Amino acid sequence: MTYTPFDLSGKVALITGGNRGIGLGMAEALAQAGADICLWGRDEARNTAAVESLKIHGTRVSAQVCDVADDSQVVDRMGDCLTEFGRIDGCFANAGVLGGARSFFDISTDDWHQVLGVNLDGAFFTLKAAAAHMKERAESGDPGGRLIVTSSLASISGAARNEHYAATKGGVSAMMKALSVELARYGVTANAILPGWIETDMTETAMSNEKFAGNVMPRIPVRRWGQPEDFGGIAIYLMSDASAYHTGDEILIDGGYFLF
Ligand code: NAP
Repeated sequence: MTYTPFDLSGKVALITGGNRGIGLGMAEALAQAGADICLWGRDEARNTAAVESLKIHGTRVSAQVCDVADDSQVVDRMGDCLTEFGRIDGCFANAGVLGGARSFFDISTDDWHQVLGVNLDGAFFTLKAAAAHMKERAESGDPGGRLIVTSSLASISGAARNEHYAATKGGVSAMMKALSVELARYGVTANAILPGWIETDMTETAMSNEKFAGNVMPRIPVRRWGQPEDFGGIAIYLMSDASAYHTGDEILIDGGYFLF
């Protein structure tokens, strides 16, 4: 028999924040590998554009407007996704927002709650709803599932002026480790991806700042900003049968920045 673990035909991936940036980069690769895709974002026009671009790969693709910071929206949209696709094999909790304060002292209580609401609460709501489906499936004789969160280099390095953002990313990484232990009995793995400096809407302001680019680029051994498509391979691997024994990990994708 031929070894084809990276053929994702018949598998369904849910990607929050899948309408642009890193989430769309992962969705592109997953669809090309044969997976059906359900993506969430708040902006309907961006969702529709992403669905159109993904459809060319020939798998089922749909998008739902969902604010992951709202628990009831997450529960309802998860139900819609399951009604439409019948199952979810991999859940990528990727939606996120940046903090971007001028200093720690400028982070207001509202800023703090807003960033935690999307990045930490949102990941919790999403993963809880997806894990409940995977547990139920396992208990009816169909074990397996993949939970993936997009954490950040900020969870392990000193992200000055972004203490709220860093706190959320440390939080989600720790949550995945706990989940990897608790859910292993259902055949469910839980891993965190830690991107370095990736060229997306989120980082546009920083990367177009000459001083920032002049300081950061020389510290990236690969000598370029990461691109959304750099997350395609890891998304396929984590979604695939090849990663069944790989759980509780933090996978750094940063062009060598952290080591240098
Ligand atoms: P991006 O291009 O700004 O995309 C963010 C995505 O999240 C969009 O699809 C956005 O869609 C969605 N989103 C934001 N708030 C949401 C909410 N409340 N509910 C649902 N969806 C929401 O950013 P990105 O760089 O691809 O970031 C993706 C993930 O990677 C984030 O978790 C980020 O923290 C992480 N990350 C990025 C970098 C980097 O250098 N870019 C580095 C480390 C980690 P809508 O606006 O339509 O809602």
